[in-house]
Amino acid sequence: ANVAMHQANLASGGYAMYTEGQEQEHTRRLALMGDLHRAIKNSELRLFCQPKVDIQSRRVCGAEALVRWQHPQHGNIPTFEFIQLAEEAGTITPLTNWMLEAAFSQTYAWHEAGLEWPLAVNLSGHDLYDPRLIERIRGMFSTWGIAPSLIQFELTESAVMANPTACLETLARLKQLDVKLFIDDYGTGYSSLSYLQKLPIDAVKIDQSFVMPMVINSNSAMIVSSTIELGHNLGLTVVAEGVDSQAVWDRLAALKCDVAQGYHISMPMPAEQFQAWSSAWSQGSHCQ
Ligand code: C2E
Ligand code: MG
Ligand code: MG
Ligand code: MG
Repeated sequence: ANVAMHQANLASGGYAMYTEGQEQEHTRRLALMGDLHRAIKNSELRLFCQPKVDIQSRRVCGAEALVRWQHPQHGNIPTFEFIQLAEEAGTITPLTNWMLEAAFSQTYAWHEAGLEWPLAVNLSGHDLYDPRLIERIRGMFSTWGIAPSLIQFELTESAVMANPTACLETLARLKQLDVKLFIDDYGTGYSSLSYLQKLPIDAVKIDQSFVMPMVINSNSAMIVSSTIELGHNLGLTVVAEGVDSQAVWDRLAALKCDVAQGYHISMPMPAEQFQAWSSAWSQGSHCQ
């Protein structure tokens, strides 16, 4: 980060000595934003995948696609940071398109190898207002010739709740493509599941801020267990994110949560390592 600030200062005329933290931060963010445009063109972005595992059978049931940016000077830029920047600057569309291409390409490669793993792509709030998004996705399905079941979408609860009426239309059109839709970061957006189930969604991902402390905090445990129960009553698949210990896994298994994702299973990894990881995981599972 210090290097980034230094570079930003040089870029803004060389003499600038920012004494105010905010101004420094602003300059750094501006410089990064310009870099992001170049990053997309120069393939500095990479597709990482984090496995999703069925809790009952321990089988790999898919993966989430997560973007990584390896900056040539500054190294890895934290994902949440440049996603937020891109959203604020209104430049998330090219990033989303890059991720979609990467995800279709990876899913196609798995499919060719006989591996039918669905890959879930994150959409941001802005994507939901992109009038060309659906046609672009439809075009990719026909170009790659893969089944709709192999690409899924995750939308955060807060993105959806920012304008439920407008989102409903986009979600309905996405759903016409026969893809599965996940509500991401559930529990952080102050909505109710009974409201969300009016949307054409298939699954809910409980936010990691409730899952991680559920074995030491009874309020978190209560939120997780009631979300699982209500989700099931509404016919939704329930995914827990941030499963980072055996204790959390065991508790989720007892609560009949469907799917787990988190560091206890695996950290996100470069997409090309996923197949080898999965073989190792299944061998390990057989021994238990
Ligand atoms: P998310 O969609 O909720 O993704 C889960 C995040 O939690 C990922 O962070 C993942 O690495 C992290 N995570 C998973 N399991 C654990 C765990 O057990 N412990 C901890 N501490 N963390 C865990 P990441 O990759 O840094 O992404 C952060 C957020 O950035 C994502 O949250 C998503 O909202 C957004 N994002 C990532 N890739 C994309 C993308 O391609 N497009 C869009 N629009 N957003 C993206
Ligand atoms: Mg997600
Ligand atoms: Mg999430
Ligand atoms: Mg999250």
